Amino acid sequence: MLLKSRILPALLAGFLAPAAAQANLCVDVPVQINSQDRVLSDEVCAAASAALRFLSQYGVVPASPIVIDVVEAPLEHYGYRALGSFDAGTGRISLMSQQAIDRLDPVPAMYGLPFDRIHYRGAVAHEVAHAAFHQNSPNAQLANTAQEYLAHVTQMAVLPPELRVRVIELAAVSAWESGDTISEIYMALAPEKFAVKSWLHFSQLDDPTAFVDMLLNIKWFYVHVP
Ligand SMILES: [Zn+2]
Repeated sequence: MLLKSRILPALLAGFLAPAAAQANLCVDVPVQINSQDRVLSDEVCAAASAALRFLSQYGVVPASPIVIDVVEAPLEHYGYRALGSFDAGTGRISLMSQQAIDRLDPVPAMYGLPFDRIHYRGAVAHEVAHAAFHQNSPNAQLANTAQEYLAHVTQMAVLPPELRVRVIELAAVSAWESGDTISEIYMALAPEKFAVKSWLHFSQLDDPTAFVDMLLNIKWFYVHVP
C-alpha cells in the first residue's frame, strides 16, 4: 500500500517560511514544518498529530498554526544544549533534524536511553505541547513547571507502550502525590524522573481534564498537587 503523505506544499496556503527552507503543511493538523526534507517533515507531522490528538482529549487544541523550523545545528536553551526548543516570544518551535542529532558526539540520551527515531517523535510531541500550552494559557510565561508537566506527559503518551514501560522501570520513581510541590528544579536535576512521576500521576487522575485546566490557569512557577 502506498503511504499517504502527511504534508502539503504550503504555497497554496500562503504561510511564510524562511527563505532557505521549504514550508510543508501537515494534512491533518494545523502545523507547518519548515524543512527541505519531505520525509522528515512527514515524520514530524505524524508526531505532531499524535501529540495534538492526545492533548485534544483534555481540551487543548491549537488556536493558530504551530510552526516548526527544522535546523541542522545544536540549539541553545537557557545555556544548555537542546535538541528542540519553543520560543515564547515568536511562538515558534526550533527542532534539530534527526540526521543532525545522529551526528552529535556524544550521542544524546533521552529518558536514560539512546536517542533514536522513536524518541525523536517524543521530542516533537514535547515541543508541540509547549506551543499548544502557550496558545491556551493566559499566564504561560509564568507557568514553566505546569508547561513542563504537560510537555513531558505528552512526550510519554506518544511513546510505544513497551518503551514507556522501559522508561518507567529505569526511572524507578512513584507518582507525584497529594501535597507535593512539583518544581522545575527537580526537572533540571532528573528530567526522566520528573517525566515518569508526572506520567504516573496524570494517568491515575479521576478527572484529567480538570487538572489540565488547572495547569493552564496557574499563575506561579510551581505546581502544588491537590
Ligand atoms: Zn520542555
